[in-house]
Amino acid sequence: MTKDFHPIKEKKHKSDKTKSAWLTFFYVGETSGEFSEETRRVFIINLFATVGALFTFPLGISSLYEGKVALGLFLIFIAFLYLMNHVYLRYTHNYTVSGNLVIYPLYILMVFLIYTGGIHGTGHVWIYCVPAVALFLHGMKRGLIELGVFTFILVMVMFFMDSHFDGAGYHSTLKSRIIFSFLVVVFLSAIYEYSMSRFNRDLKETSAKLELVAYTDALTELLNRRGMIQRLEDTKASSCHLLLADVDFFKRINDEYGHDVGDYALSTLGHLIQTALPEDGLAARWGGEEFLIAVCDGTELDAFALAESIRQKVEGYEFNHLDQKFHMTLSFGVSTMDERTSLRESITLADNRLYNAKHSGRNQTRRD
Ligand code: GH3
Ligand code: MG
Ligand code: MG
Repeated sequence: MTKDFHPIKEKKHKSDKTKSAWLTFFYVGETSGEFSEETRRVFIINLFATVGALFTFPLGISSLYEGKVALGLFLIFIAFLYLMNHVYLRYTHNYTVSGNLVIYPLYILMVFLIYTGGIHGTGHVWIYCVPAVALFLHGMKRGLIELGVFTFILVMVMFFMDSHFDGAGYHSTLKSRIIFSFLVVVFLSAIYEYSMSRFNRDLKETSAKLELVAYTDALTELLNRRGMIQRLEDTKASSCHLLLADVDFFKRINDEYGHDVGDYALSTLGHLIQTALPEDGLAARWGGEEFLIAVCDGTELDAFALAESIRQKVEGYEFNHLDQKFHMTLSFGVSTMDERTSLRESITLADNRLYNAKHSGRNQTRRD
């Protein structure tokens, strides 16, 4: 009855095996899953932390050489913190806490650099890396609030505290230009973050729509063959019963009333089947006028009873389209898929039983 059964091939990315060592490092070993928002965040936070550690450690050593002990130790402490962050991320994958461990020390370091002037008064040149990190880690709303508070603290330290800027006698124009240019970078980073998050949202919506289309049969709005296989392969149930149904003498409907009426009959049938299912039941249009129902609850006898109730419901239903009234019947083959019988084997079994139902006179359910 059914055409050749082609289960969807192995889903896991083949490229995982060949993923290079450095990518594995940044994904903290998370190489098996599909590309999710979580793995993307873990990856970028790890990248931030690693780049941060690679910069702060040599800068810390050079600060110690320059005699800036507090700054040097602070930078080395941050390098150590970022390194620990990698280890923490590797074991917990908790990117929220890990992101905070990246951004808050960064804020403190920047205020410290602004206050002390860093090495030869160059401290302020580093503040421009803050906006991108803050907006990525905390999103538009929280990121912008934090950057607002950070800017306020910068203004306070530069203009109203006895900081490096006063000690070195910088002109107030330089101070205001630093603040303005920082705000420009905040603004540009916010635009970038906004467009990226919008793009990501649109992409997610589109991919959800495409997935729905790829797994749905357009005529009946049931799952299609691909969708059913996917769901059955993903099921966590230890066993599922399969009910394979085929319309009896459907060709006659087409021949007698035309293809449009045939289409109407199939889509109505899809609705009759869908509304007869238990809560966890799945129904798919398996082929032209064949339907596959899966229930992962109860015994095979319960599945047999369900097939019979659907068969009787359809038998008693009067199809009515464009003033054409007619009846249809279904033949069913029922089987069970479990640890002993694979999906492929149980489909073949249901198909054989459906064949038996056809040959014993149609309009009946067989489980042998
Ligand atoms: P049997 O009881 O042995 O199953 O007889 P049958 O006539 O149902 O079986 P057969 O396989 O000979 O015919 C199936 C028909 O289903 C042939 C095909 O034109 C029709 N069909 C398949 N898909 C569609 C569709 O999407 N729309 C319409 N209208 N007809 C379809
Ligand atoms: Mg048929
Ligand atoms: Mg058929």
